Parts: sequence; structure tokens; C-alpha cells
Amino acid sequence: MSSDLEELRRELDIVDVVSRFVPLERVGSNYRANCPFHPDRTPSFFVSPSKGIFKCFGCGVGGDAIKFYALYENLSYLEAARELARLYGKRFNLAGVKEEEKVRVALERVSDFYRESLLKNEEALEYLKARGVDGHTVKRFSVGYAPDSRKLAEFLKREGLLEEYLKTRNLVSLGSGNYRDLFLKRVVLPVRTPSGRTAGFSGRRLREDGSPKYVNSPESPYFKKSSLLFGLSETKDYAKEEGYALLVEGVFDVLKLFSAGVRNAAAPLGTALTEQQARVLAAYVKKVYLLFDGDEAGRKAVRRAVPLLLSAGLEVFVVRLPEGHDPDSFVTEYGVKALKGLISSAEELFSSLINGGRDSLEERIKLFREYLSYLPDDAKRIALAAEFQQKAKVPLETLLTPPKRRQASSSLPFKYKVLLKGLLSFRPKVRPEELELPKEVRELCYKALDGEEHELPEEVLEFNSPNLERMFYKVLEQLKKREFVREVEQ
Ligand SMILES: [Zn+2]
Repeated sequence: MSSDLEELRRELDIVDVVSRFVPLERVGSNYRANCPFHPDRTPSFFVSPSKGIFKCFGCGVGGDAIKFYALYENLSYLEAARELARLYGKRFNLAGVKEEEKVRVALERVSDFYRESLLKNEEALEYLKARGVDGHTVKRFSVGYAPDSRKLAEFLKREGLLEEYLKTRNLVSLGSGNYRDLFLKRVVLPVRTPSGRTAGFSGRRLREDGSPKYVNSPESPYFKKSSLLFGLSETKDYAKEEGYALLVEGVFDVLKLFSAGVRNAAAPLGTALTEQQARVLAAYVKKVYLLFDGDEAGRKAVRRAVPLLLSAGLEVFVVRLPEGHDPDSFVTEYGVKALKGLISSAEELFSSLINGGRDSLEERIKLFREYLSYLPDDAKRIALAAEFQQKAKVPLETLLTPPKRRQASSSLPFKYKVLLKGLLSFRPKVRPEELELPKEVRELCYKALDGEEHELPEEVLEFNSPNLERMFYKVLEQLKKREFVREVEQ
């Protein structure tokens, strides 16, 4: 998708723009200077011509050439774009900037607003410190704070982006010029796409006040929760370097680990891992280490995540935390060295099942048969089964046959499980009221579409199949109400 704004960004030479105001010194393929936005004697301000961005590691400010000019000349982002275009004789039509592009600019600007507000809020800064999140991590992830709905609305008005930002539903108009920021009085973490674009936010309450612990941006074309992983944008380079990514359950686990020097973790946003998230991970690493909570819920989450990761072609390692610990509490109690020890001694999933461990042979055979069925590679499946056969003296055919899924305790018909799991995983544009469904199932459909995982029966969450997507669309077709189909056909 190209727009005037994107073209302008591509055409501007950030080194030229910045050096109009700040003398730059070359270091390798980048440039550096004393930061013009905070008292800086180190040089902490860097410019990357290949990425077209600047970033200050002292105060955390960063962005593209237009953003630099806007900050330096105290202009809104769009005004800065217009001025720069004039200055460099580029064609640029402000009226022609697409709404979608404006929403994306608004999201970046709101992230800046939150980031700057954090520095003025003692309580939020104290909270982060108490959670073991250090200053470097705060800057790297652009952690922020949402101080005041009215101030945010005024800020967006000045940027000429208020109407556009309302499209994200992160800010809601209450009428008569009043607004409500969804993240009000919360520590705000920007959730970015792997390429670094701000898609939305996750807000953590500062203290027990009866409100939900976390609030995430509502689903929208800009924020698709089921394909976003918190932290991946900031940690993917470290993960590539280490050769694996750590998958954790909580967004604060990512921050805490980063502060402690473990810089390759990412987390889903308060829900179980989805098929899309597994595929996104597979684009950056070949191996994933699961570092889930050491309790029954954590073990269940591992069992749900493993099939998705295997189906995405990833090699899986399970790190076992002691009962009752999450990564955050484990590092607090035993230190990061102990955690690194646990990680480096974790065994690859199939070899741990073949070589034994805590589980009984019977249990290992059951898991082996199930997990094996998700491996996309036939040759590998047969080789692993042969290896296990030698150890366990179990017939090869048994090992290569997936165990029957428990049907007895199941109360939902198969097609509804496919439907609900599909809605939860793919979040398609479906209106449950247009489907032929029993009332209870329809209610569950709304919950699945809202991502309210905890409201769904365990048998839906546990349900997995490598053919889910295909089955789901087939079921959807069958359930479409006849009168509705007729309406559409006419
Ligand atoms: Zn700075």
C-alpha cells in the first residue's frame, strides 16, 4: 500500500534532515550525536540511514525523519511532513493522506504522549522499579503512562488526528467534548508488529482497585490480538542471535527478563497462543523454549501451545519452572543465572519423551503419539517413532497412530468445538446471529470473537487439529442460515 506519506518517508534522507540541526558523527554504518531532546554528554542519540530512523538511548525518543523535524520545530507530524516536502521539493499532498495512514501516525504519536507522561508520574515509575523493570528496558519498549483523557484528546487535536484515533476505540468520545482513555491511570505498553509499528496498547493497573489487571486495545484492523506477540519487535534480533525465542505467558515476564539480561522473550496478550502467533514466531526462529508458569494452568497452556508450535514447523523445548513460580518470581527468588541454567538444561520435546523424565512410560507414549501427529515432516515422524520404538519396545504402528481424543466427557458436538475454536483462533468477520445455532452456543460464539477465552469450556480450548482452518470454514458454510444465504444470493 503506498500513500504520499509513505513515499515521502522513503524519499527523505534522515541524515540530511537531522544534520541541518545537529552535527552527526559517523560510527560504522550509523551516525551519532549528543541528543537535542535531553541534556546529554555521552552521545546517546543514533541515526540509522538504512532504517530511516533515529533513536536516543538516553531519553527513549525515536522515530523517522518527519518525527524528528516535528519535535525539533515543535510542529504536528502532518505539518512537519508538509514543511519537509516543501523544503526538499518533494511532491506531497496533505489532503491525499489516507485515513488508515493517519490512524497509524496517531498510534505512534499516542505512544510518544504516554512515554513522556511516564517520566512525570512518580507512582508509575515506582511501580516499574518495584516490578524489577529497569530504565533501559522502559526506554527500549517505550513504556508509558496514561495520565488524563482530556489531555490526550487535546494532544491529538493539536496533531490533527483526533477523529482518526477514535477509529481505534482506544479513546472513546462521551459527547460534549468529553473523552475516556481506555488505559487511564495505567502503565501502558505499546504492542508493536514485528516490523516495529505500534498496533495498539496493553495497560496494567497500578494497584488493586477492582478493575481488570490488564486492558488491551479492542480488536480492529489496526490491532489483531491473535497475530500479535508482545515483545517480538524489541527482542527478535536477540532471538535470532541466540537461535531461539523464549515464549512466556505474561507481558511483564518479558520486561522483567529483558531487565535481567534475558532479551529473547515474547508473550501473547493475556490469552493462549494462537496458530497465527506460532506462524509469526516461525518466521524469525527455528526453536522455541516454553517458559510457562509452574502450576496446573501453566502445564495445560503448554499442552495447548505445543501442537500449534509443532504444526508451524518449530522445534519445541519445555523449561520446567518449580511449582508455584512464574519467570518473574523465579528470577526474583533465585536470580537470572539459575534461570539460564534451567533454560540451557531443557531438553528438546521429543527427546525428553523418548529418554524419559518425570512422567511414566505410559504417559510419555500418550504424549509422544499425540505430538508426533502434528509434525509436518513425514520422514522426521518415522525416524522419531523408530527411535522411541527401540527404547520403549512399543510397536511402530502404535507410535505413529495419534491417540483417540476423549469423547466420553465431551458435551459439545464436534462441529461446535470446531466453530468455537476457529472463531477464537482466526477471528473472522462472522456475525453469530446469522448462523443456525442453539442459544448457548451462540453466546459462546460472541465470547470467542471477543477473545474472552476464560469463558469458554475447557474442551474447546483443548481442541486442536492440524486441519482446523479447513474444517472451520466448512462448518461455517453449513451453519449459515438459509434465509440469510438466500438474501445474499438475490
Ligand atoms: Zn535523548
